[in-house]
Amino acid sequence: MRIISVQEAATRTFDVCVVGSGASGAITAAVLAERGLSVLILEQGTAIPPGTDHDDVEDPDTWAYARDGEGWSKEGYPWSAMAFGGGTVFYGGISFRYEQRDLDPPPALLGDADYAHWRLRLDELEPHYDWVEDRLGVSGPSHGRVGDYAFPHYARGSLPHTPMGGALARGADALGLTPLSTPMAISGARDRHGPGCAELTPCTGFTCPVNAKADVISRILARAEGDVSVALDTRAVRFVASAPGRAKRLEVLGGSPRSRRSVHADRFVLAANAIQSAALLLRSADRREPDGMGNSSGQVGRHLAMKNSVYVRGRTQERIVAHQPLRHRYSSVCVLDHLRGAEFPGQLGGIIYEANPWEDPEADRPGAGSLLQLECLLGDRPQARNMVRLARSRDRDGLQRIVMDYRQHPLDGERLDVLQGKAKDVLHAAGAERTESVDSDFATGSTHLHGTLRAGDDPATSVTDRTGRLHDYDNVWSADGATFPFAGNFNPTLTIQANARRIAVGIS
Ligand SMILES: Cc1cc2nc3c(=O)[nH]c(=O)nc-3n(C[C@H](O)[C@H](O)[C@H](O)COP(=O)(O)OP(=O)(O)OC[C@H]3O[C@@H](n4cnc5c(N)ncnc54)[C@H](O)[C@@H]3O)c2cc1C
Repeated sequence: MRIISVQEAATRTFDVCVVGSGASGAITAAVLAERGLSVLILEQGTAIPPGTDHDDVEDPDTWAYARDGEGWSKEGYPWSAMAFGGGTVFYGGISFRYEQRDLDPPPALLGDADYAHWRLRLDELEPHYDWVEDRLGVSGPSHGRVGDYAFPHYARGSLPHTPMGGALARGADALGLTPLSTPMAISGARDRHGPGCAELTPCTGFTCPVNAKADVISRILARAEGDVSVALDTRAVRFVASAPGRAKRLEVLGGSPRSRRSVHADRFVLAANAIQSAALLLRSADRREPDGMGNSSGQVGRHLAMKNSVYVRGRTQERIVAHQPLRHRYSSVCVLDHLRGAEFPGQLGGIIYEANPWEDPEADRPGAGSLLQLECLLGDRPQARNMVRLARSRDRDGLQRIVMDYRQHPLDGERLDVLQGKAKDVLHAAGAERTESVDSDFATGSTHLHGTLRAGDDPATSVTDRTGRLHDYDNVWSADGATFPFAGNFNPTLTIQANARRIAVGIS
């Protein structure tokens, strides 16, 4: 991998230009370069130093309008992260595989949802999961089955439970549930993947100070073989077509002084996250395509699908963790017993996992005990009315801001209520006395993003085909979470990466 200036990027024609250096973009670029193609990655963000808190690098000018109760907020968060490496430099590393129902659920599970099938089979993804897990060094249980969810056999065994995870596992066990180790893309000890975790900062929301977390810069791009160039601080602004159905160049903003240039490539891959990729197509409207590029279906930006989630927490009487702030892994224990159940609308539940907060505000209070926290997470029902669109107002680059027009489906609210009741039971059984729920504010940005360029067979109801190629353009693909018609019930990044590899292998 070579970091190049936008000026240099504008002087060549690349075989492939990938928009975004995050979870999906890095995998796509590495696979294509290994196939012998020259690849340019455009990345709007910059390299973030080790140990940085995400809050310190946020740029409010890039935020979106989002529904907030009955009104609108200007603090919608349309990113996983805007950074070299995308969300993976700040993520928690939770790395579940999806099951078939998460990829393409049967209609009965989603009720009245406006759904398009992309007919993606789990067995098609399995070799790609194996490849990604090997490159990232994912550790997880060597086996595990709950109902019909079966963990794969992870080559690297689980990391030990954190002290909080140990208490939660005992609580779940006492209720007759099956607590399992959360699969994580974090190294416990130095090995071929990198150094081991030194417990210097929390994982989620911070860049790892020692590279123990499997971000895509250290695990994928730094090790990529072949011709990969990366232009940082370079924003893709709009596509320009050479002929109907064929993109010719991308206008970009970058360099010093910041100015507009064009980059040329034979093929383009969107890997900017499901919100930003849709916004880029919408901003590429012209006289021939006034509703946005690749949008003859009118579906670009629609069906924004996210995770609905809530935290539940409680305090033990006994102190089970000594030092503050908490520097443990975000998660070491998960409970998958509630993926399905008659008590959930449509019988579709969700997952519960240990989700350690960064700080315990009451840590210094004598007799405060310890804080235990779980996250309840579920994939929402796809709805056409949930969408990404463009506002009239403009950002400092003069581009139309993003609107995230998202409303929770009432049945998903019910599902989440049932799930948080189950999580509170686990907390009580783990020794927590009082429990409370803490809003995750998912509706103003969940960081788990899908649906806006959904894949399907019918060009009238979907934006891409099942290979990720736009129905309307024969040289543009989407490799991020945007093609997933359903968000799935698990943290998505490992699956987004496995799917990105599937798509990259198929790009012709
Ligand atoms: C704090 C935090 C914790 C998380 N924890 C987990 C977890 O434990 N497990 C899990 O599965 N997921 C987790 N996630 C979510 C995870 O980060 C995302 O699912 C994943 O990064 C999405 O991959 P992506 O390739 O679609 O997008 P990203 O990784 O976000 O990459 C998109 C990239 O494109 C760039 N970009 C966007 N628009 C443009 C443009 N116009 N021009 C140029 N570049 C552009 C962005 O700057 C970004 O770098 C977490 C996210 C956060 C923020």
